[in-house]
Amino acid sequence: MPRILSRFGDLFQDHPLPMWIYDTDTLRFLRCNAAACRHYGYTTDEFLHMTIRDIRPRDEQLRLEADLASTEPRLPQASGVWTHLKRDGTPISVRITSHAVGYQGHRARLVFALDVTEQLATERALYRSEQLYRRLIDTMPHQVYWKDLDLHYVGCNRVFAEAAGLDDPQEVSGKSDENLIWRRQAQRMAAEDRVVVTTGHPLLDREDTLTGPDGRQRRYLVNKLPLYGPQGAIIGMLGTLEDITARKKAEETLRLQGRALDASVNAIVITRHHDQQDIIVYANPAFARISGYDLPEVMGRDCRFLQREDRDQDGLHLLREALHADREATVVLRNYRKDGSLFWNQLHLAPVLDTNGKVTHWVGVINDITATMRYQQELEHQSTHDALTGLPNRNLFRDRLDQAISYAARYRNQLWVVVLDLDNFKLINDTLGHAVGDSLLQMVGERLRGALRDSDTVARLGGDEFILLLLDQPGVGLSPRTVQTILEAVSAPMRLGAHDLALTCSMGVAVYPRDGETGPGLFKHADIALYRAKDGGRNQLQFYTVEMNDRVTERTLIEGHLRHALVRNEFLLYFQPRVDCVSGQVVGLEALLRWQHPELGLVPPARFISVAEETGRIVEIGEWVLRTACLQAVAWQQAGLAPVPVAVNVSARQFRHAAFVQEVKEALAISGLAPKYLELELTESVMMHNVDVVIAAMSQLKAMGICLSIDDFGTGYSSLNYLRRFPIDYLKIDQSFVRDMLDDPPGAAIVRSIIALGHSLDFRIIAEGVETQDQFVYLRQEGCDEIQGYLYSRPVPEREAAVMLGGVA
Ligand code: C2E
Ligand code: MG
Ligand code: MG
Repeated sequence: MPRILSRFGDLFQDHPLPMWIYDTDTLRFLRCNAAACRHYGYTTDEFLHMTIRDIRPRDEQLRLEADLASTEPRLPQASGVWTHLKRDGTPISVRITSHAVGYQGHRARLVFALDVTEQLATERALYRSEQLYRRLIDTMPHQVYWKDLDLHYVGCNRVFAEAAGLDDPQEVSGKSDENLIWRRQAQRMAAEDRVVVTTGHPLLDREDTLTGPDGRQRRYLVNKLPLYGPQGAIIGMLGTLEDITARKKAEETLRLQGRALDASVNAIVITRHHDQQDIIVYANPAFARISGYDLPEVMGRDCRFLQREDRDQDGLHLLREALHADREATVVLRNYRKDGSLFWNQLHLAPVLDTNGKVTHWVGVINDITATMRYQQELEHQSTHDALTGLPNRNLFRDRLDQAISYAARYRNQLWVVVLDLDNFKLINDTLGHAVGDSLLQMVGERLRGALRDSDTVARLGGDEFILLLLDQPGVGLSPRTVQTILEAVSAPMRLGAHDLALTCSMGVAVYPRDGETGPGLFKHADIALYRAKDGGRNQLQFYTVEMNDRVTERTLIEGHLRHALVRNEFLLYFQPRVDCVSGQVVGLEALLRWQHPELGLVPPARFISVAEETGRIVEIGEWVLRTACLQAVAWQQAGLAPVPVAVNVSARQFRHAAFVQEVKEALAISGLAPKYLELELTESVMMHNVDVVIAAMSQLKAMGICLSIDDFGTGYSSLNYLRRFPIDYLKIDQSFVRDMLDDPPGAAIVRSIIALGHSLDFRIIAEGVETQDQFVYLRQEGCDEIQGYLYSRPVPEREAAVMLGGVA
């Protein structure tokens, strides 16, 4: 190298670039050229007294030490940019290139120092402005990219890089869409881009769905603009993508919510509280539908107009409290539609808070519950009123009675409870049909209401039973006449469609406080009095008396004992013969039930049959009678006595029992009695219900060979014409006609016509209760076929009956 230097000494000395050689161990300058002296401001001599430390700024000494400690000084060649100080202290940036050399026995480095201060400054400025742009586009929330005319990416911002799945925006450079994650859409995008760069027409605000960095589809707002170069030619394009996925979703949600509001069946109102008013700022179509107002009409109005003048409502008070306390509430209000009609508004109210938690609006959801309310009121009415007559029902009556009692107790008043029952209503219902029956009940309801004073109550208990509550008020006292008037009002003849009806009723009266001090007590006693009225021949009224209660007590007693009568074998049968009027022979026996009770003694049927019927016990008792009678008849036949039919009484309830025909079959089968020796006595009441079913059962019995008779004929309501439909063999004229017929010409006429008409319908006629020879003679003369009665024999126990049969045999 020294050789080189000597050879190129002038070159070194005159080289325009500052150059020097320094000792790598002492860092002393060993030589420097003219340019170095010129540039740094030192003389050669000064240089040669300095080390390279002296041209370095103090704060870079550390870096120098580090460099010196590194391997760099030993490298054959090294370069770097350093800051040096001129003699006057001006810092300069110098690009150093150094080479390891030997110089006059020193280990040294030959250094070329190029001052790059200005170059760096320009570079730095450029760098700064580029950085600014970089930062600008990176700051943009949207994706920004630009492409050249080949549609290759030139650059992009960070958001774009991220969306494209790149780590660094630089990576995009030179890529095309096919290299990026949306390669599937690449062709379409390229086509668009091409239009922009070839035509110069920008593509603005187009929505597009592109694959996002997470691989999911995202919605973008796309803008593509041509990029012009300095000469005004298109050099590429600039694109922006705005990710509007969230906004779209929000818009969609908003759209759906808006639709939900529009489609809601509930009216929805939003109000703004302002100056003591709640101004409507929004109302949905349901509001218009429910309220009858058009939406523009209600906007900006205080929503109080919905209540009109009806301001004193519990719901409004509650509402005001909720508004005051800024809390949710549900209230029921009476609102008025535009046409003035009332609608019940179940309003749910909720405050809307702003970000500071202050209430800015209220949302009201209006539920038109008018129908529900009406239904509720109707239900309430239904639960307290009778549907048919519209009269109060038992529940409401009970309430009123309780109220009236406490009132009467306080003012020491009387009050009357009257139970009313229509006589023979069942018959009308069954024969004329339920529609007529219903109209009749309605008419009775009206008549009762008309006959009562305003202070009184009439209720329907069900069926044909009504109950009245009559109050004793000052100046309007109560008297039996009051009740009698009511009875007469109900009993006045009435015309229902084609029917003229003479209806009567029976009434039982209990008086507070004499006959009872409680509702149930009065009720029960009025009922007992009613029973008595019915028993006493109907169409009358009865006041409760203590003695009546005895009868009730007896019924209860009978009912109790009857429960065990069968098991305890307390029943037995008596028999009463039937005699042929012409031959005078016993042609049959009627089995009559007797109850031998250890305490009550021999209880006659009149005392217990009705109780057994009401309790339903008659079914099993009847079955017992049937079997016992059949067994007895067989026993007599087996004993060689004259075989005559045995007649068994069948109660209506027993006959209606589904298994009745079967029971008869079984009784015959068990006993082995031939059916022709069994007769069944039915009452007219049997024929009042389900005529077709009754006829079917009768026909079955007839088909088996059993004879049927109608007992107590004339006391019921069947006309002879009506009877024709039933397969009957005998009519038994009720003993009441027989008893009176000789003293009472009309009675005799009835008996005579029953016999005549009966015969014309091919029935055999039996007269019951024949006690005298005169009666017998008259009956025989009128053509009666058979008689039954004390004249020939009372009902007798089995052994005596056998004697009678034996006598004939
Ligand atoms: P019924 O079937 O009309 O029976 C005739 C009733 O008249 C019997 O009363 C009988 O003792 C009575 N009698 C008969 N001849 C005369 C007379 O010349 N003068 C008077 N004053 N009475 C006479 P009894 O036995 O007290 O029976 C009363 C009713 O009880 C019967 O009337 C019948 O309807 C019913 N009954 C009796 N036994 C049974 C039964 O086993 N089952 C059902 N379901 N009812 C029965
Ligand atoms: Mg009978
Ligand atoms: Mg009878």
